[in-house]
Amino acid sequence: MSGIKVKEPVITLTSGPAAAYPRVLQAMSKPVQYDYDPYFQAFYEEVARKTAKAMRVDEPALLIHAEPAVGIEATAACLIGRDDVVLNLASGVYGKGFGYWAVRYCKELVEIEVPYNEAIDPEAVDAAMSERPDIKVVSVVHHDTPSGTVNPLNEIGRIVRDHDGLLIVDAVSSFGGMDVHPGDCMADVFITGPGKCLGGPPGVTIMAVSDRAWDQMAANQDGPTASILSLTDWKDAWSKDHAFPFTPSVSEVNGLDAVIDNYLEEGPETVWARHDLTARACRAGVKAMGLELWAAREEIAAPTTTAVKVPDGFEDKEIRATARELYGVVFSAGRAETDGKLIRIGHMGPTAEPIYAVVAISALGGALRKLGHNADVNAGLEATMDVIAAAHA
Ligand SMILES: *Cc1c(COP(=O)(O)O)cnc(C)c1O
Repeated sequence: MSGIKVKEPVITLTSGPAAAYPRVLQAMSKPVQYDYDPYFQAFYEEVARKTAKAMRVDEPALLIHAEPAVGIEATAACLIGRDDVVLNLASGVYGKGFGYWAVRYCKELVEIEVPYNEAIDPEAVDAAMSERPDIKVVSVVHHDTPSGTVNPLNEIGRIVRDHDGLLIVDAVSSFGGMDVHPGDCMADVFITGPGKCLGGPPGVTIMAVSDRAWDQMAANQDGPTASILSLTDWKDAWSKDHAFPFTPSVSEVNGLDAVIDNYLEEGPETVWARHDLTARACRAGVKAMGLELWAAREEIAAPTTTAVKVPDGFEDKEIRATARELYGVVFSAGRAETDGKLIRIGHMGPTAEPIYAVVAISALGGALRKLGHNADVNAGLEATMDVIAAAHA
């Protein structure tokens, strides 16, 4: 019996943790197998292989049994040596945050930082790497979620490879919701998870690691072993013939199995298209209501999150609380530097459906009107519905 007095939300439109598919939740309720049982070891290998297929890489996926933040910190710990110069690209809170981990391990951190409603300019990366040929590792966040903006990842990847750098990509809140793959962006370490666009649980990290990155980790004498932050401990764990260094999160692996089946069966292109359509419908509604998008330019607005500027004279907390109270709809707040400045509507996994753009515009506009803002909800809904109709022309 729960003693919680707060009513449960009706619809959660957040940008992570986001709603999970019923099929995934069902899979997570399967029996918890002994990790050394031949059944589980074979099952684990199959899940690692199908996850690799979803990422379009040949090597079975590396799974780390904790939320993706752990996989990212582990990458900093394992890949970056004490003599390495790191170029960190920061267009938001997550990008900036990687730098705090990187400085612990590197010789020097070079940073390109842009305003958190902007994106990294690939030419600036080229210039920085030309000026500092000793830069060895480059880190970038594809979709910096607390800003709802995306970086031109494939262009950045090509430049980093031209300069022979090792590229770390945080694609936690973009993979599964748009066309992004380790091969296309030439990532050496590609980090994602099932908890955002794939509609699964947030407790496991999915990674693809290049041979160059494994070589660098093997050569890094400072890299951790027998540690929760060790990637090398888990390098061969995908194989049914190899022991696990620690206990894998069995139920999360059961969930991941369903997550990947779901994604591959629906078809990645179809999944990306509904993320894109929902986001476009949402952006059209936001603008037609008389509100402003947070992104400086619409081309960099993510298809998996729509960040809306908090109108002058209004409090984001109040707007979100009102949307929750009147409609049972939950939105995400900003985070750190973007906290209080924007409201985020997530279109991830099961909520990347056009009807949720209608829900979001209604609940956001309705809450604002209740608070005395003159948001034009009718115009917003019309614009949203026009985008949806045009997709079926
Ligand atoms: C959600 C997210 C992560 C992972 O953070 P957790 O706290 O582990 O959920 C990492 N990077 C980005 C860009 C994210 O959106």
